[in-house]
Amino acid sequence: MNAVKTQRGIGLEHYQGIIDDSLFDEVVGLARRLKDVRVCHINATSYGGGVAEILQKEIPLAKGMGLQFDWKTVSAEPGFFDVTKKIHNGLQGADVKISEREWQIYQSCNIDQVKRINPSDYDVFFIHDPQPAEIIGCIGKNGAKWVWRCHIDTDEPNRAIADYFLKFLNLYDASIFTMKDYVLKGMKNDIFIIEPAIDPLAIKNRCLSHKEAEELVRGFHIDTSRPLVTQVSRFDPWKDPIGVVDAYRAAKKEMPELQLAMIGSMADDDPEGQEIYNQLKEYAGENQDIHILTNHDALHDIEVNAFQTYSDVIIQKSVKEGFGLTVSEALWKETPVIGGNVGGIPTQIQDGKTGFLVNNSLECAEKIVYLVKNKKIGEKMGKLGKEDVRKKFLLPRLLRDELKLIEKLVH
Ligand code: UDP
Repeated sequence: MNAVKTQRGIGLEHYQGIIDDSLFDEVVGLARRLKDVRVCHINATSYGGGVAEILQKEIPLAKGMGLQFDWKTVSAEPGFFDVTKKIHNGLQGADVKISEREWQIYQSCNIDQVKRINPSDYDVFFIHDPQPAEIIGCIGKNGAKWVWRCHIDTDEPNRAIADYFLKFLNLYDASIFTMKDYVLKGMKNDIFIIEPAIDPLAIKNRCLSHKEAEELVRGFHIDTSRPLVTQVSRFDPWKDPIGVVDAYRAAKKEMPELQLAMIGSMADDDPEGQEIYNQLKEYAGENQDIHILTNHDALHDIEVNAFQTYSDVIIQKSVKEGFGLTVSEALWKETPVIGGNVGGIPTQIQDGKTGFLVNNSLECAEKIVYLVKNKKIGEKMGKLGKEDVRKKFLLPRLLRDELKLIEKLVH
């Protein structure tokens, strides 16, 4: 188990003027009442993907409000993450089989983590996703309250894998899912539905002017005199990168000047990333207008922000998606989004009002052309989308929901 050092605590007052006053007061009240409760979040990685993104921002905010929040990540050999990515895919419904040997790797790593935490140091544990989920089975509850936080789309899981997990998921005091549909059949503990959120104060989400964004994007050989569509996502089959290229190619037939950027970080716990990246490169071929970029190309939060701000359209063409922070991130910048009509994306996009929901690459292509040709409509959608995000998907709301849950558990 590794303790993660985050940026300095930041006070809630910095969110005043962004969030509603009623939410502000509610979070302040909860934080005051829960200041003595020691909370530990445990997940797989401190870098890459939505969970790390949330915790990087949530922990400093909680600390800044005087709460005792710690964050630890699993320390494991790469072989463990090969197994857990398979488990992740299985829980999202993929037809995978975990061998006896792989379950042993999974379990022995969870046992190993236990040696490095002292459960009596905390009152509440938040265990994120499947990677560290079996810790509870190895350590016992030890007087603390345990919450399992599932971030993935477990609507139609591979049953054998779900059944393995149910054995100890029901030891938890409570579980959090992003949507009602994701609640695993057979869960018997208290279920809470809490949507993730983005941090409006993060470098990734702070307001960049069009000019600043344009300059940053130009640094990646984007021709700023021509339209640009972008998808920001790990290189993962569920994010349908090949489908995005198909949509782009179909749109380009009508709009030859169109460019595409595919931005993907290599998450520490995602061994599939490099392979999917290679496949995508090969599929994209020699087309100079398709820009495939990663964090290894010096593309970090401010540059992601620039692409989300500058692009004519952001795509999130997932075929399965727990939530998809990238949708809220783009809408927060008033950029219209075309999203796959799956998982947590429809909760963020009002179809035809703040963006479009699509079911295949051709529909996606059609909407790309429509939005690039009708900039004013796209701008209007982006503005409405930003207000939706402000109301529903900003970090203080997420912290409030978790604090309410903690209060319920400890009092
Ligand atoms: N992200 C990033 N750089 C990239 C690709 C993704 O910073 O090259 C971030 C993205 O901005 C978002 C997170 O990684 O904050 C991905 O979260 P999401 O919920 O969309 O998907 P997940 O990876 O958790 O499936």
